[in-house]
Amino acid sequence: MSRIAAHADLLAQLESRLGRAGLLTDEADLAPYATDWRRLFPGRPLAVARPADTAAVSAVLAACHAAGVGIVPQGGHTGLAGGATPDASGGQVVLSLGRMNAIRRVDPLGLTLEAEAGCILKVAQDAAEAQGRLLPVSLAAEGSAMLGGIIATNAGGINVLRYGMTRGLVLGLEVVLADGTVVDGLRALRKDNAGYDWKQLFIGSEGTLGIVTAAILRLVPRARHTATALLAVPDPAAALRLLEAAQDELGDTIQAFELIARDSLALVAEHAGLASPIGESDWTVLMEAGSSLPGLREAVETLLGEALERGDATDGVIAESGQQAGSLWALREHITEAEARAGKSVKHDVSVPIPAIPDFLAAAGKALATQAPGTRPNIFGHMGDGNIHYNVLIGPEHDPEAINRIVHDAVARFGGSISAEHGIGQYRVDELVRHRRPAEMALAHRIKDALDPQGLLNPGKVLRARV
Ligand SMILES: Cc1cc2nc3c(=O)[nH]c(=O)nc-3n(C[C@H](O)[C@H](O)[C@H](O)COP(=O)(O)OP(=O)(O)OC[C@H]3O[C@@H](n4cnc5c(N)ncnc54)[C@H](O)[C@@H]3O)c2cc1C
Repeated sequence: MSRIAAHADLLAQLESRLGRAGLLTDEADLAPYATDWRRLFPGRPLAVARPADTAAVSAVLAACHAAGVGIVPQGGHTGLAGGATPDASGGQVVLSLGRMNAIRRVDPLGLTLEAEAGCILKVAQDAAEAQGRLLPVSLAAEGSAMLGGIIATNAGGINVLRYGMTRGLVLGLEVVLADGTVVDGLRALRKDNAGYDWKQLFIGSEGTLGIVTAAILRLVPRARHTATALLAVPDPAAALRLLEAAQDELGDTIQAFELIARDSLALVAEHAGLASPIGESDWTVLMEAGSSLPGLREAVETLLGEALERGDATDGVIAESGQQAGSLWALREHITEAEARAGKSVKHDVSVPIPAIPDFLAAAGKALATQAPGTRPNIFGHMGDGNIHYNVLIGPEHDPEAINRIVHDAVARFGGSISAEHGIGQYRVDELVRHRRPAEMALAHRIKDALDPQGLLNPGKVLRARV
């Protein structure tokens, strides 16, 4: 019996609730939803449900719950851990939130934005900007990533240093539970200690505990002045001293502090045709500060001058215009794409305590050079958050799992995390078990069992599926 025939009742029920536009079952229509953008996690959906409102999401979940069929939520499909991709069984329904994309309200005084889960991050950012406000979560995939995915992965990005992770920006949340129950917590409150803050369970749970259907996000006032600088630094320890000086001199106006290795800029030059405007160096820092008060640029100039005098920087440039700032950021934003064009790589999204970054980089580099010669690290990331994307370009002779272990073991030695912001998805499920304490894993399973006893929400993601 074909998979369609085996689930004929469920599919008929879904089609009658969602209409023809709301349910895809033809192989050609399913293809874009079947695998991630890097084609690392190929899957095969039974069908794709595209509900247009929360009531329809609830109906899909209730029907799948009754039929015992797994659900894989999908937003912009830009995730880097294979979390939004169904397995290859042909028995899971992909739930695409893309049609639920309304921005319901922007409140410039209350500093909030309410939108549906399928709203693209860039669209929400623009809506906030139109009211003179800033939605601070920003990342290179913002033109495709959706708010539901951003919340479900507790996304980080370039402004975490100043504004924190997505978790800190979610004021209110509406979710649908595995059995179809709608829980409406859409409150635009900054302070709300009335009982458990249950929304935190869903933020960062990668679709394994419930479906995010709408949210109220915190906005911040837009800084009138921004200063963006690119600096050549001799080594990560110098970059760390520069970060400390920036925090002393610029206070909380410092909003991004990115570290980029020489090899990463070489990849961008080779595969994206973008060249750095400053002299070559083993390491480069891209930093940005923002403020509405005057004198920001002068403060950044002083910081840069002092760093050059101390030898913590050997060259540097401060953007003269928004366009120049955009070109500096383009260098950083093209690294992931350039890496994909360069060949096969093993990605690591790790964090260590900030002061440990230089020692971690040295230890991981040494371990790779001795245990996996011929690999080429592509190191960049949000140094101000202790978050390094320690990716490794490999040849056919290298075993990706062995590379994983080498890097993650170095992370563990420094008390770090094997996933700083990209999540676990299906990519790091086994590594999570290796790196979290048994009591932490047992607690995670108890939460999962309480909210999704049949294990139907994004099966096999974050936690191993229980057989
Ligand atoms: C070039 C590039 C740069 C990136 N940079 C960053 C970065 O700086 N920081 C960062 O944190 N991430 C980054 N990412 C990763 C990715 O963009 C984020 O994880 C983003 O939050 C995913 O959003 P999405 O809508 O594409 O989610 P998807 O990829 O569709 O889904 C991600 C996970 O969330 C679940 N999910 C999606 N929607 C819902 C929902 N409505 N309810 C419940 N679960 C849901 C999915 O099942 C899956 O587990 C980057 C990705 C790319 C391609």
